[in-house]
Amino acid sequence: MTTTEAPRVDAGWADEVRALAAAQDAVVLAHNYQLPEIQDVAHFTGDSLALSRIAAESPASTIVFCGVHFMAETAKILSPEKTVLIPDAKAGCSLADSITADQLREWKAEHPDAVVVSYVNTTAAVKAETDVCCTSSNAVEVVRSIPADREVLFLPDQFLGAHVRRITGRQNMHVWAGECHVHAGISGPALTAQSQAHPDADLYVHPECGCATSALYLAGAGAVPAEHVKILSTGGMLDAAREAQPGRTVLVATEVGMLHQLRRAAPEVDFRAVNDRASCHYMKMITPEKLLRALREGRDEVHVDPELAERGRAAVQRMIAIGQPGGGE
Ligand code: SF4
Repeated sequence: MTTTEAPRVDAGWADEVRALAAAQDAVVLAHNYQLPEIQDVAHFTGDSLALSRIAAESPASTIVFCGVHFMAETAKILSPEKTVLIPDAKAGCSLADSITADQLREWKAEHPDAVVVSYVNTTAAVKAETDVCCTSSNAVEVVRSIPADREVLFLPDQFLGAHVRRITGRQNMHVWAGECHVHAGISGPALTAQSQAHPDADLYVHPECGCATSALYLAGAGAVPAEHVKILSTGGMLDAAREAQPGRTVLVATEVGMLHQLRRAAPEVDFRAVNDRASCHYMKMITPEKLLRALREGRDEVHVDPELAERGRAAVQRMIAIGQPGGGE
């Protein structure tokens, strides 16, 4: 049994969540890797950046972000005037934690003319030290936008960095050796074994969140047949699922929470996790009880220093100005 097995909620739980949200002018957002009940009760589900944009555009004065802490911080950066709550502030991210602002400042001091490109899976303090953010979808485009003679510091994900370096052929790009503990489980042997066991299956790789980036790298390196590999945003993955032939097998190389949305979208397609233990325990720290507590008690509130938020916002906005951050969610 995977760790996505749902805790039980009583019949009134969802009604109470929605009633409290309405009473408090709150919008409830759930990342795709949340528990199924949380996804089902949320007003919106999606990936981190899509949810942050929804949060910014929502008329609600309070955002309840069911995801991990850096995502709630990003929502706060983009909506500084709103109250942002996360049901458990201890829901971290091993990838975001793989570099601190101090470490980044030291790295920058070693390469004073370099342009710093940070994946969105970073803390607000790291974003504040960043020139331009990127997602997995647009990382290549962002790096290509930087003049060829400028050094690039790319962080924190080594798999995404290796992928970008391979595609761009860029030699003056330094990559931080960070990784997500979940994607380490979606390994080359696991992908190859699943692909051989299901030779006609499609492989969906979600390009957001660090857990997919090793799959992205391996797919690009030929570990699975290229014609079966579909690199898709959340929305693209759901669109592809709806168009898939009934009875088709699809291997999903990402955190297992995504299977819930895919199976809802296309119940007659056989979706299989490349690694059914690829579950993010930080994501699963957001439980139905804690969501209710967040709405009842207004906790845990997310604060970002306004000066850090302004600098981090500039890095996110530069990314948006360069191109599509990974739409379709
Ligand atoms: S799956 Fe990995 S990258 Fe995504 S939130 Fe969890 S630890 Fe972070």
